Amino acid sequence: MPLTPDRLTRFARHIVLPEIGGAGHVALADAHIVLVGLGGIGSPALQYLAGAGIGRLTLVDDDKVEASNLQRQTLFSERDIGHGKAVAARRWAANFDSKLDVAISDRRIDAGNAGEMVTGANLVLDGTDNFATRLAISDACVRAGTPLLSAAVGRFQGQVGAFAGHLPGHACYRCFVGDAFDAEDCDSCAEDGVLGAMVGWVGTFAALQAVRVLLSGVSALGDPQWGRVHLLDGLSPAMRNFTIAKDPACAACGSEA
Ligand SMILES: [Zn+2]
Repeated sequence: MPLTPDRLTRFARHIVLPEIGGAGHVALADAHIVLVGLGGIGSPALQYLAGAGIGRLTLVDDDKVEASNLQRQTLFSERDIGHGKAVAARRWAANFDSKLDVAISDRRIDAGNAGEMVTGANLVLDGTDNFATRLAISDACVRAGTPLLSAAVGRFQGQVGAFAGHLPGHACYRCFVGDAFDAEDCDSCAEDGVLGAMVGWVGTFAALQAVRVLLSGVSALGDPQWGRVHLLDGLSPAMRNFTIAKDPACAACGSEA
C-alpha cells in the first residue's frame, strides 16, 4: 500500500535514513509486535515503537498504575493512577497516533496462556520483571516460531538479547538462563530500588534492537543478532556483549525438546 502524504511527512526522518528508507518503513508499518510488560522498560519501548509507526501492537500487562511507578514508567501520569496499565497504555497510543492498530490484554501471562499471546506476531518484546514469566514467554515463542527480544534490568545492570530458539543453531532465552528460575522470584525493583533513567536506557535500546530485527532482509540496518546479549552497565557507564550458543540439552529448544 503506498504511503499517504501525511504518513510520508510523519516518518520523513526515518525514510530519509539509507539504513531504513521507504521499504524499511513499510516493513515496520506492516509489523505486529507483542509488548509484554508496560513498566519502566515497556514504556519507552512502546513510545519509540509507536513513534516508528509499528502498524500493529498488542500490549500486555495485568498491573495497575501506582504512584510509585511514575518515577520511571513514562507512559503514565497522575490521572492514570489506579487504572490498568494496558488500558492507560492504549489511551496513550490512541492519542499519539490514531492510525496504529492497538490491542490490549490485562491477563497475567503464564505457561498456560502465553502461546495464544505470541502466536503469529513478528516479534515479542519482553519487558517483564520476573524469570518465571520470562521463561513462559520464551518457551511459547520457541513453540510458536516467534522471535523474542528479552530486556531486563536489575539495579544498574541491564541486558537486552534477541532470540530465535525455533531456528536450528540459535539459542533461546532458556539456553541463556537455564531451568533454575522457573519459580516466582526474585529480582523485583520494589526491594532493590531502580534508577528511572537506567530502565529508560534499557527500554530505548530494546526498541532500537526491535527495529533491527524487523528490518532483517529489508534494509541495511536489519541484523537480528540472534543469541547476542548486550549488557548495559549504568555505573561505569559501559556496554559489552556476548553470544549465547544453543544448548543441545535445552528443555525448550534442544534436540530432546
Ligand atoms: Zn533453548
